Amino acid sequence: MSAGLRRFTSGSSATPPPEPEPVAERCEMCGAEVVAEHGHLVDVEHRSLLCACRPCYLLFTQPAAGGGRYRAVPDRYLCDPEHPLTTVEWESLGIPVGATFFLRGDGDDAGTAAFYPSPAGATECLLDLGAWAALTTEHPLLAAAQPDVEAILIHSTRDEVEYFLVPIDACYQLVGTVRLYWKGFDGGQEARERIDELFGELRSRALPLRREA
Ligand SMILES: [Zn+2]
Ligand SMILES: [Zn+2]
Repeated sequence: MSAGLRRFTSGSSATPPPEPEPVAERCEMCGAEVVAEHGHLVDVEHRSLLCACRPCYLLFTQPAAGGGRYRAVPDRYLCDPEHPLTTVEWESLGIPVGATFFLRGDGDDAGTAAFYPSPAGATECLLDLGAWAALTTEHPLLAAAQPDVEAILIHSTRDEVEYFLVPIDACYQLVGTVRLYWKGFDGGQEARERIDELFGELRSRALPLRREA
């Protein structure tokens, strides 16, 4: 497990890994103003997300040899309609929440950790790594997220399970939405609507995983 992920997963489960998206519309590397649709960098040492102007973003799109503190968050959204997850497969993971994201750390022995958005932020939940590994053999997209900067987001409702590969900032956005709108025990109407809206955007944005010939 990489130092980054260890830091990410250590400590109490209530410790939120992702920090909320900064509000300042400025590049946090050089201070230049950024447009609304700007890129982000992950600071793998501090587990935080930084807004970046285009030139600063491009500086970090190629992983530095041996890692490096900053990584550009890719902007690909993928789905895999050829390998749908069944409700039974989803239940094999034993995760009792409807929306969960899965992150992988860097390095050969890096593990995968699961988080769900809660009113307290991102909360880690126990993940049966054997069950996860079994699912990834049948569902290649589950293993395709790049360490630290991408995540697998799974959304299960009563009769359907959908999953996407997303940039990690999409998870931050989900966490932020839940923090902002969640009320009471079940979240309430507004939270549900906002979460549905986010998944609607993901659905329309995600491209099918390209098969290797
Ligand atoms: Zn910049
Ligand atoms: Zn930003």
